[in-house]
Formats: sequence, structure tokens, C-alpha cells
Amino acid sequence: MPEVLRGLGASSGTATGPAYRLGDPPRLPAPRPVTDPDREVDRAYAAMDAVRDDIARRAAAADDPTTAEILAAQAGMAGDRTLRAGVAEAVRAGHEAPHAVAAVLAGHRAVLIAAGGLLAARAADLDDLRDRVVAYALGLPMPALPAPGHPYVLVAVDLAPADVALLDPRQVLAVVTSAGSFVSHTAILARARGLPTVVACGEALTIGDGTVVTVDGGAGRVMVGSAATAPEQRAAAAREESGDLRGRTADGHPVALLANIGGAAELAGAHAEGVGLFRTELLFQHHVDPPTGEEQAAAYAQVFAAMPGRRVVVRTLDAGSDKPLPFLPTGDEPNPALGLRGLRLARGRAEILRTQITAIAAAARDCTARVEVMAPMVTTVAEAAQFGALCREAGLATVGVMVEVPAAAVRAAAILDVVDFLSVGTNDLSQYAFAADRRSGELADLLDPWQPALLSLVELCATAGTAVGRPVGVCGEAAADPAFAVVLAGLGVTSLSMTPAAIPAVRAALAAHTLRECREAAQKALAAADPAAARAAVTRV
Ligand code: PEP
Ligand code: MG
Repeated sequence: MPEVLRGLGASSGTATGPAYRLGDPPRLPAPRPVTDPDREVDRAYAAMDAVRDDIARRAAAADDPTTAEILAAQAGMAGDRTLRAGVAEAVRAGHEAPHAVAAVLAGHRAVLIAAGGLLAARAADLDDLRDRVVAYALGLPMPALPAPGHPYVLVAVDLAPADVALLDPRQVLAVVTSAGSFVSHTAILARARGLPTVVACGEALTIGDGTVVTVDGGAGRVMVGSAATAPEQRAAAAREESGDLRGRTADGHPVALLANIGGAAELAGAHAEGVGLFRTELLFQHHVDPPTGEEQAAAYAQVFAAMPGRRVVVRTLDAGSDKPLPFLPTGDEPNPALGLRGLRLARGRAEILRTQITAIAAAARDCTARVEVMAPMVTTVAEAAQFGALCREAGLATVGVMVEVPAAAVRAAAILDVVDFLSVGTNDLSQYAFAADRRSGELADLLDPWQPALLSLVELCATAGTAVGRPVGVCGEAAADPAFAVVLAGLGVTSLSMTPAAIPAVRAALAAHTLRECREAAQKALAAADPAAARAAVTRV
């Protein structure tokens, strides 16, 4: 079995190839006394100017607006007057040019890290600036991208915008970083470039150069030592070629296979029956002002147009915590994951939710897609009822909620009295049920979706749905694991939504088991003492 490293899925898609690590950044030499401060200030400024001009050139040459905008902002940092004044002061206090730049940027970095959230995610940009200016001042080359002479998976502590912008997609198949977050510029640019990426993968640097890895950017996993093309995938490909996209067990029990997407581009080539999770917040992650209704309706219409006649579940903005949106600041929260996020943001900013629902309804009117809408982070029956009423008032007939908070799972039956469907978000449900930050590599054992307690929560939802004949899907990344998908089907889940690349293998796994076998697998997993036993019991079914 390949070893699996966990991180945070930052840009969906899968790729397999040999891994190579980005070179180390330049090291500062031992400090020496400054004899001519004026000359030393000039040296620092010359390095900063050269770096600013270089990054500005890359911004001008960028072929997409996101990259251009991010690089232009970084060039602006290199030319920042306060930064320059600070560097001059540090030189006059006795630091040589490279040391002065490193010290001043370290101060700025500490401020960003202390601010947390989106600002902390920008620390990597400052690190890159420091490395570039230090390298230039010392006359050293910048850390170069590996050049093994064939396509590869790039491994690094983090990547700077300027690095990501330069990646040649014919050479770099995927990216894995040990640092970073969902909103770091590495992640944002990787998504813009459609590059499968896993960030915050604590053990990334243990991967030796040349080791074959499979990166699953949707599930946030890196399989080390695997070529990952199972016979199941080949069988599924054959079925897909015949144009049959329906998921079903060997005896024909339907389990819809849907796609998790952040925009229309991710549907290209997807063999999905529909969209089970449209993460709308990803469309607007750069916006400083709230997107207008027209702007939103146009973006939603693109996705609906790509899915004529098919089901598309639009999730209203899931901002806050690990997905901060500049136009929806949550203030200084001591514990953002337990604070204002998802539907809770509507408490103070009801107009943003209202505008979004109106925009979804407007786009839905002009298409043939079967548009449904759901809210993230719903906790109580009252929240579900309020959301349902708001959507129906706007003309959206099919309304559901995500089950990501254990309280909602426990009350699944009552929630299904007020909405039409449930979609279980196992990523957050694990986080909240096990009191373990979903980004934590150290707590990966608690976040393992095979934890029997998580399965019990999913079972509560599925049983509530079966009792009243309403759909209960799973849209957390766990649905992308073929063996786990068999268990979910056995628990009574009616649809599975996942990163599009994972659908063929899940389709093949379902097709290989009867519903009875799926139910047996589910019972064995539920009865297991721990995740390893649950997994082992199922792979023997
Ligand atoms: C989840 O929490 O499982 C989910 C699908 O939502 P997200 O990953 O976008 O928080
Ligand atoms: Mg979630």
C-alpha cells in the first residue's frame, strides 16, 4: 500500500509523477561591520529596485488577470517607501544591506502572522521578496526550479507568486507544499492555472527527489510510491466511453455521482451526472467589494449552461475561518472556526445572502439545469427553516442544507421537515465532531473519515432521509475514496459529490458491489473499533 500524506486540497485534479524539491533559499553570511553606510543603503536600494522591476515585468507578461494582479501587488511591496525607509534605518544602525532587508521584512512578517487569516497567508510573499532581494544583493542566483528533463511534481516549503506564475504546465504536473493555506497565493494561483495542488502537507519535505507520487488536489492527499491507476479506473473509463454517467451498484441501485467545483472551468472533461457542490465563495475570493447581483448571476449562469438538464447544487457563500473573503471581514475572532462563518455571516450581513439568492434565482430562470441551493454551516432547525423560507420566496423550489456541525446531524430528521435535502460535509463534520482543526497534519488520525463516530453521524442523516424519502448526499472529500463510497452507499446516502477526477474510480467501485454488499460493508465499518479496523473490514468485503 502506498503511504498517504495529508494536507489541504488547494486546487483540484490529480496527477502522478516523480517528485523534485525546489532549491533552498540564499543564506545570509555572517554579519560584518558596515564601513560606508551610504554605499550600503545604495546597495540595498539597488537590489530592491531590481527585484521590483523583475516582478513588475512578470506581472506585465502574465497571461491571466489574477496572476498579473498578485504580482503587481508584490512589485508594489518591493518599492514600498516605508520598507525602504526601514531598510535605510537598519543599515545606519549597523546592518549590511542583505541583513537589513531580512531584518526589516522579518518585522513586517511578524505583524502579518499576528494578524492571522488572510494577512497571515501573505507572509510567503514577504519571504519570497526577502529571498530575492538578499540573493540579488549577494550576487547569488534565486532558488531555481528543478529541471530533471521530464515532467515532475514540484515539492517546496511554499512557493511565491512569481514562482507559480512561471511554472511551465508541461513540466510541472502538480504542486505539494509543506506550508501555505487555502487562501495563500500559491493556492489561489494554482487554482487559476488548474494545477493540482496540496498545501499545508506537513510531511511534504520527507519525499525524496525522484520518488513517484500521486497528488490528489481535491482530497488534499499525496500518495507516495503509487502509480495509482487501478483496474477499476480502466473499467470505469470503458463505461464512460459508452456515455453512461449514472452511478449505481452492481444490482442497479442508483447513487448519483456529482462534481465539487469552484467555477465552470472545472467542469471541462468532468464525467459527472451533475454538480453536488458549487463552492461560490471561490469565485469571489479576491473581491474587496461585495460582487453585484448581475456579476454573480453571470458567473452562475456559466455553470448552469454547462450542465443542461442536470442537477446543480449551488452553495451560498461559505466565508470565514479557512476561507476568508475580503469583502466579508469577520473582525478579530479568537477562534474563527467556531465563529462567524458560512450561514452565520448572514446574521450581520443579511443583504449579502439576499443578493446572492436573488442572483442564483435569476440565473436559474434562464437555463435548463435543475438548480438547487444549499447553505453551509447550518446548526439548528430554525436556521434551516429561515434559509428555506428565504430561498423559496426568491423562487428557488429545491432547498437544502449542509450538515457540517454535529448538532445538525443529531437533528437531521427535524431539519428534513423544513428543507428538501441534506448534504453532509465530512471535511467540517470531522473537524467539529473530533474537535480537530481540519488543517492539522498532526491530528490526521482524528480527521480520518473512517472514524466510526463520523460514520455514525452520517448514518443518522442517511436514516432520517430514507425515512421520509428525501435525498441525503455526501459532498466532503471523503466521498472520493472508492472504498469509503461503498460504505456511504451502504449507509443509505443517495449521492456522492467529489473532485471530478475521482468520479471514475468511485463509479467503478460502486459497480463492483451489490447494495447488500455495500450495507454489509457499512455495518462492519460502523462496528469497528477504529479507522484502521474499519478500513480493513471493508476491503475484505
Ligand atoms: C465540507 O466541509 O465537507 C465541505 C464540503 O465544505 P468545504 O470543504 O468547502 O468547507
Ligand atoms: Mg465545509
